[in-house]
Amino acid sequence: MTRFVMMGPPGCGKGTHAAGLAETLGVLVVSTGELFRERAGEKSRAGSELARIMATGELVPDRVTNELIAERLGEPGTRGGFVLDGYPRSVPQVDELDRILAGHDAALDGVVFIRVEEEEILRRLTARAEQDGRSDDTPETIRHRIRVYERETAPVASVYEERGILLPVDGVGSVEEVAARIRSVVPDAAPSAP
Ligand code: AMP
Repeated sequence: MTRFVMMGPPGCGKGTHAAGLAETLGVLVVSTGELFRERAGEKSRAGSELARIMATGELVPDRVTNELIAERLGEPGTRGGFVLDGYPRSVPQVDELDRILAGHDAALDGVVFIRVEEEEILRRLTARAEQDGRSDDTPETIRHRIRVYERETAPVASVYEERGILLPVDGVGSVEEVAARIRSVVPDAAPSAP
């Protein structure tokens, strides 16, 4: 079992936990947010367009995102498994991921869904904005990102729940507590019995 998606609202810690789970499973993490941040830093028209979209809290157009994911998941390093961080983020992206995986004769093993209430998300994102000054963490952008999440991304969890592969995890607690909960719901990540 090596193909997982890590999802949850902005500020739920999915980046941290995607990296942790990938390490436990011995697979690579593919983070659309990280890849876009790298590209947004490039001095090109495409780079500045990405930076502009991300600074508003909107989603990058599906054409760009899907192409990036198809490319990454076609590489030898991710053929055997991966943890996706930040993708799929909309129902059309779920369809695209299905199409990519079907082309590789593969399927998702599970979707870890980190649950955090909206009030707690606001508190965390505001604190993060003060600490590391991410340009998409201004109060206005934070509110917008939460709205975009509710509208576009929350329905993704319902799709996977219907398929019986959603693995909900309580996201409130220390990083280690949440990581332990994740390991307990991901079959191959549980510590083996002595
Ligand atoms: P993240 O680090 O996952 O919060 O992503 C930061 C930003 O990158 C998001 O607010 C979006 O603008 C963009 N982004 C990341 N993943 C996606 C995706 N799957 N589809 C569209 N835009 C994305």
